[in-house]
Amino acid sequence: MRITVLGTGTSTGVPVPCCSCPVCRSTDKRNRRLRTSLHVEIQAQDLAAGAQPPGTPEHEVCAAIQIDTGPDFRFQALRAGLRRIDAVLYTHTHADHIAGIDDLRGFNFIRNEPIPVYAGAESAAELRQRFGYCFTTSPDYEGGSPPDLTLQLIEPFRPLLFAGFEVLPLPVMHGSAQVLAFRFGPFAYATDCSAIPEQTMAALSGLECLILDGLREREHPTHFSQSEAAEFAMRIGAKQTFLTHISHEVDHERANNGFRSAWQADIQCAYDGLVIELAGRA
Ligand SMILES: [Zn+2]
Ligand SMILES: [Zn+2]
Ligand SMILES: [Zn+2]
Repeated sequence: MRITVLGTGTSTGVPVPCCSCPVCRSTDKRNRRLRTSLHVEIQAQDLAAGAQPPGTPEHEVCAAIQIDTGPDFRFQALRAGLRRIDAVLYTHTHADHIAGIDDLRGFNFIRNEPIPVYAGAESAAELRQRFGYCFTTSPDYEGGSPPDLTLQLIEPFRPLLFAGFEVLPLPVMHGSAQVLAFRFGPFAYATDCSAIPEQTMAALSGLECLILDGLREREHPTHFSQSEAAEFAMRIGAKQTFLTHISHEVDHERANNGFRSAWQADIQCAYDGLVIELAGRA
């Protein structure tokens, strides 16, 4: 499995327009954060033995899954050299996670069928309301060519299958709203959360790697602070944890030094362009 962290910034991105704080002026590339987004490639080696097509090289990509398409998605796709998207999973419908949906068009051009887009029931209704033109082939739509997408409903805890690989959608709380995290075998991704229900905590055991919301040091009503994230990371007990959805109040190097001295665990801030390679069965 190859995980590409396309963006690690909170909704404003970092630097923040008009801000001249030290992090916004920093020359450390890891302090430049596009809006939070992730790309996961499932490889043949990740599939259960019986599900691997015979003779397939172990690193062959069997499914390319995009999580969220925020306002920076087009640039992120170009920067990371993405060549394929088989499905999009939406965590929720805040603008910093969906506003780049139109830029899925480039992936439509190299594909002869619509791209399936997965969302929870409330998110799906909102996507249909705000971006209805993406989910219809109405001849009345004039100008440009909208993305060609189909909307698929996600039910929490009901696994999704991509090329035989199981992805488990897990509810987490983002303030008072329930949004989705996703587990991919040894890896899980939980952005935009401020609490994790016990049933989801139980479903997060035994991870190799976790990416978790960790906005800033100060508390926030809808996001984990970095200390809260570290506490949850310790409880979840993944071998390695990266924080994401990070604000301009966090200097990458200083935060990581703080984690090293405060926590007896491998916890650090993620950064744009980070690639994580894991070998693991569903
Ligand atoms: Zn967000
Ligand atoms: Zn700033
Ligand atoms: Zn959000």
